[in-house]
Amino acid sequence: MLDGKTAVITGGTKGIGKAIARRYTEEGANVVVVGRSEQPGQETAAELGCRYIQCDVSEYDAVAAVVDQTVAEYGGLDVMVNNAGIGPTGALGELELADWYQLMSVNLDGVMHGSHAALPHLKDAQGAIINVASVLGLAGGPGSVAYATAKGAIVNFTRAMAYDYAAEGIRVNCLCPGVIETDMTDPIMGDDEFYDYVFHQTPMQRIGDPEEVAGPAAFLASDDASYVTGVNLPIDGGWTTH
Ligand code: NAP
Repeated sequence: MLDGKTAVITGGTKGIGKAIARRYTEEGANVVVVGRSEQPGQETAAELGCRYIQCDVSEYDAVAAVVDQTVAEYGGLDVMVNNAGIGPTGALGELELADWYQLMSVNLDGVMHGSHAALPHLKDAQGAIINVASVLGLAGGPGSVAYATAKGAIVNFTRAMAYDYAAEGIRVNCLCPGVIETDMTDPIMGDDEFYDYVFHQTPMQRIGDPEEVAGPAAFLASDDASYVTGVNLPIDGGWTTH
């Protein structure tokens, strides 16, 4: 249970982040969800009974302001979930350089921004960081060079940061989902070639639900995971078994 804990969840307005926000609120946490788009943010806050703050995670000052506002309102911060992200943008030859820089600033810098801003408060709380990478942080995949590069960096960011802050009582872990049904994957779900690829890759032969990521996210935030740090946990129906 997460009674009395306070969590910020970037990208908590829909998809995987929203499922994590729902689970955390059900387990008794104070939750702040973050996203750029006001309307889904306010709707999610009203639906889940949590707080929404608008912010683009690629801007450090905006992320720091979210953390400061959360601490001012709830008296501290126990869990930082760095989940906000945008999807794959193609093979290198198809990429505009601007797409690469944009993806890095959201998917990778955003994780660093949330971790950096939360750090002093997590020290006070003996808290936890949970990053969201991907199976594409553990292996390559088609048309995903920028995405896989950023997610691979998050995997090692998690290990390095876990090492540095273990003695200070901060745990840093990471979730590596396979293909999960959200708005991010919606455009490719009707693509037969993609579907064949996913079935071939996934021994369980199905895509995942956001709720199947929320359970592990709740465990890693909880005191049940008090001796768990530096872990990059695949949640992938077996994708990374082969
Ligand atoms: P989603 O449904 O598209 O939701 C993405 C969330 O991130 C939204 O809340 C979005 O809100 C927010 N976001 C995007 N850019 C942002 C920015 N610059 N600043 C603040 N918030 C931003 O995606 P999802 O599938 O739930 O993905 C969530 C995370 O899981 C991502 O990191 C993704 O890479 C990872 N993941 C997803 C899958 C999958 O198959 N779905 C698999 C592995 C990993 P706004 O658009 O309003 O900003």
